[in-house]
Amino acid sequence: MALPINLGNCKVGSNLKTKVATHSAVLLKRKWLSHKSFEIMISSPPGFQFEPGQRVGLSMGGHTRDYSIVSAPQEAELIFCIRSVAGGKLSTLLSVADMGAPVSVYGPHGYFTFRSTTRSAVFVATGTGIAPFCSMTRSGISNFTLLHGVRRQEDLYYANQFQQNAHEYVPCLTAADPLPQKAFKGKVTAYLERHLPSGAYDFYLCGRQEMIRDATLLIDERFPDSLVYTEIFY
Ligand SMILES: Cc1cc2nc3c(=O)[nH]c(=O)nc-3n(C[C@H](O)[C@H](O)[C@H](O)COP(=O)(O)OP(=O)(O)OC[C@H]3O[C@@H](n4cnc5c(N)ncnc54)[C@H](O)[C@@H]3O)c2cc1C
Repeated sequence: MALPINLGNCKVGSNLKTKVATHSAVLLKRKWLSHKSFEIMISSPPGFQFEPGQRVGLSMGGHTRDYSIVSAPQEAELIFCIRSVAGGKLSTLLSVADMGAPVSVYGPHGYFTFRSTTRSAVFVATGTGIAPFCSMTRSGISNFTLLHGVRRQEDLYYANQFQQNAHEYVPCLTAADPLPQKAFKGKVTAYLERHLPSGAYDFYLCGRQEMIRDATLLIDERFPDSLVYTEIFY
């Protein structure tokens, strides 16, 4: 039996009356990574500390949502990778806000952090679920296998970063034609099923709920002695 550990979304604090730290920041930069996703840089609030893989609550215009941090703790600013959701309140606001606009930052939160063990690490992301793995890589974590599931090649943001640091980096594209070199045509779960050698791994899954459900079921069946850590973007 694999052990699905849903540490990534533990609501630690909500029942424990733990005080959530609130910080003030400003929007410094925005860069579009594809036609649907963009990166924002905000000032790092004084004294703000986090571990690679953690998330924060970002708040603007009365809307607060969770976002995983892309940058590494040693970087001077905080960076996030955000998908512009049609009709989405905060993602739309962040996609058009003026530079210098105030942003409140709550946290950091979460336990989706890297634990070094003797087992090989397999990182699996869909879309902007790549964010925590960026932070881990920028912090010096290497020698992992990374599957990034996206529709098209333009959504493979941060590919250069992973090509340099991952033991194996496999873009999994569901709608690419022609297929870029060394990419897999299909979902990340299909790659796991067909190509990952049997064994015990530490799996880190981040992204949409459907992927995490399907991957966890598959891992339970195909890689039963593995550990699974999850961070669900819902
Ligand atoms: C732990 C955690 C970490 C997260 N990290 C990130 C991150 O790093 N980057 C990121 O882009 N998002 C991340 N999210 C998602 C983020 O918190 C928001 O849910 C997302 O940005 C939509 O917010 P919104 O205010 O724009 O949309 P809302 O106004 O909240 O939603 C509008 C509608 O869009 C739907 N919707 C929400 N998200 C999506 C989506 N991705 N695709 C299609 N429809 C959607 C909603 O169900 C709703 O019907 C994370 C979520 C969690 C729980």
